[in-house]
Amino acid sequence: MTKKETTGFRSYYQDKDKQKGRRALPDEYFGDESEYKRGMIVTAHADDAEFSCSGTVAKWCAEGWEVVYVLCTDGSKGSEDRSITSEQLAAIRRQEQIDAGKVLGLKDVVFLGYPDGYLEPTLDLRRDIARQIRIHKPDVLICLNPVRDLNVFHGVNHPDHIASGEATMAAAFPAARDHLTFPELYFDEKLEPHKAAEAWIVGTNEPDFYSDVTDHIDTAIKALLEHKSQLGDFKPEDLDARMKEWRRDSAIGRGMKYAEAFKRIRFRM
Ligand SMILES: [Zn+2]
Repeated sequence: MTKKETTGFRSYYQDKDKQKGRRALPDEYFGDESEYKRGMIVTAHADDAEFSCSGTVAKWCAEGWEVVYVLCTDGSKGSEDRSITSEQLAAIRRQEQIDAGKVLGLKDVVFLGYPDGYLEPTLDLRRDIARQIRIHKPDVLICLNPVRDLNVFHGVNHPDHIASGEATMAAAFPAARDHLTFPELYFDEKLEPHKAAEAWIVGTNEPDFYSDVTDHIDTAIKALLEHKSQLGDFKPEDLDARMKEWRRDSAIGRGMKYAEAFKRIRFRM
């Protein structure tokens, strides 16, 4: 398919045979990853990114991308330790995420500080994420699945994950793009609008893109191991095996050893 043909994507959708395919749009419809240089990963909690997409993050950082994490919650609830306070837990989770970011080579980790466990896709959250998009100007945004899908994660997903995914998608399109949306960002904070090229969504049942992380899997696992308070009874070698198993499954039949799976959404035409 030529570039010219891909511009008529409405007619592409109308082709019933192509609708049956795993991917509704042709590869050429999406941008060229080699032209992107800035990434932003928006998640709910410390360790969400390390479990889902840290191989891709490690690859981007190794290739010289500027990569920023935005964590929506303060991580103050996810523990079975009866002796710890929310404040203590939040401080631990924050430091562990900073340490993991150093392993990966992140430019920055931004903590929005919403209370863990209660996240909703509010206008305040949308504006806070849009602000970070305008500041850091990512080409690619990675976010969590904004839809509750009963066919992934055995039907169980954290509500904060879904809320962060929805708020991120809404922030990228159209809030970060339009200077009259959340006008205080432009008129008071002097932040120019920004249109990300694409969103890459993790945790969907319909991935259509596989990022080869074979050369970066060890860095990804090393970053995950920085989340010591989240690892519970997992031994490092067990976690190493599980991370590789997931990524090996995603790579089957694609000429890669380890891959991370995404659904790509294009914003920038
Ligand atoms: Zn999480």
